[in-house]
Amino acid sequence: MERTTCCVVGGGPAGMVLALLLARAGVEVTVLEKHGDFLRDFRGDTVHPTTLSLLDDIGLAERFARLPQRRVTTVQLPIGPDRSLVTVGNIGALHGTYNYIAMVPQWDLLDLLADEARREPSFHLRMDTEATGFLIEGGRVNGVRHRTADGATGELRATLTVACDGRGSLARALPELGLQHFPCPMDAWWFRLPRHEGDPSGLVGGLGDRFFTALIDRGDYWQCAALIPKGTDAERRAEGLERFMTRFAEAAPWLADRSHAVTSWDEVRLLDVRLDRLRRWHRPGLLCIGDAAHAMSPVGGIGINLAVQDAVAAARHLVRPLREGRVGLYDVRRVQYRRWPTTVATQGLQRLAHAQIIEPLLAGRTAFGDPRRAKRTTELITESPWLNRVPAYFIAYGALRERPPAESLRRPAIPAR
Ligand SMILES: Cc1cc2nc3c(=O)[nH]c(=O)nc-3n(C[C@H](O)[C@H](O)[C@H](O)COP(=O)(O)OP(=O)(O)OC[C@H]3O[C@@H](n4cnc5c(N)ncnc54)[C@H](O)[C@@H]3O)c2cc1C
Repeated sequence: MERTTCCVVGGGPAGMVLALLLARAGVEVTVLEKHGDFLRDFRGDTVHPTTLSLLDDIGLAERFARLPQRRVTTVQLPIGPDRSLVTVGNIGALHGTYNYIAMVPQWDLLDLLADEARREPSFHLRMDTEATGFLIEGGRVNGVRHRTADGATGELRATLTVACDGRGSLARALPELGLQHFPCPMDAWWFRLPRHEGDPSGLVGGLGDRFFTALIDRGDYWQCAALIPKGTDAERRAEGLERFMTRFAEAAPWLADRSHAVTSWDEVRLLDVRLDRLRRWHRPGLLCIGDAAHAMSPVGGIGINLAVQDAVAAARHLVRPLREGRVGLYDVRRVQYRRWPTTVATQGLQRLAHAQIIEPLLAGRTAFGDPRRAKRTTELITESPWLNRVPAYFIAYGALRERPPAESLRRPAIPAR
């Protein structure tokens, strides 16, 4: 029987940030991560200004800046009356040092956080260790049961267990937390194409026949996503790979010379896009944050940012009770109260974007349902400097910025700029 103060289930952005902040503040924390490394394609790559400024606050800005990355300063969507691209968020025009989105493969960010956390004696990371169930005694979660990749099983008891295990979280099976689903009009295909000298860089979007593309520049290859209408995966696959790749090349003509690089549907993975949230993020001894508490739509690429902000808020509210070894329902509830309005507002905007932009575009119509409304709306966005800043600010910083606990801050001797 082993014991820790805080057991973090899942080493994604939420789990690693929470663990680092708590360990820095002297809390004994153990992260269980079911994979053997952080190297997985199926993750987001966008690090937004709030996360960049957090990395600065905790003294990691310089090391982060050394990671290979591309910077994105504008967000464009095909919402014009003729489905042309309109800049809906000019992040570069915002004040502040971090007025861009850094495109960094998520595994590099997670490696950096893990590496930094390992400096703290109270931090423990167990890779290849999957949490398989909660230890529930007298209505309280007292830790987890786990299993390693070689089949060894064990129990880890904890004062608090934080579920950071993403949208397939163990905690979602607890009926009292009440998982609430919202309809989503799209799914996503995910595949790679080689990247050549002279290609565009950063994040490149496009619009095809009933699909959207988002291409993420990862140096020597493109991580390609194609948003397709929900539930049409099988039907589209039946039409043949060649047909899809031809249509894909029409949406991104500069990639036409290598569309044959995808040779089988096995290379095209389906992501079932979901938008959901738990009504309750906690029960005695347990807190859920990040995707475990709320799976976000890809709209705005804000899933990582939101997960990180949850972790920062959780660290700030929980450092003290964890140090004192007494985490009550009041403490975990406070984290949900703090993060709930941001989550609801962000998901509300994503649902609006689904209805007004994604659904009509995927049905071959213009955004907002008809060209006149599209014209009026895009004129409003582009001609009003104020309206232009709102989406940029929201994408960059979210609805509410969280401050890490003072004990977790570190400033480098020479600040990175
Ligand atoms: C294909 C794809 C593309 C995306 N693109 C973007 C993007 O560009 N920008 C953006 O902001 N967001 C994007 N997202 C969303 C973003 O990745 C998530 O919102 C974000 O990673 C959530 O962080 P998290 O830490 O809450 O959960 P996750 O990142 O899901 O991390 C959960 C971790 O828990 C581990 N785990 C799961 N179950 C267990 C268990 N039982 N025991 C131990 N460990 C476990 C997993 O291996 C994983 O490491 C994308 C998501 C997907 C799937």
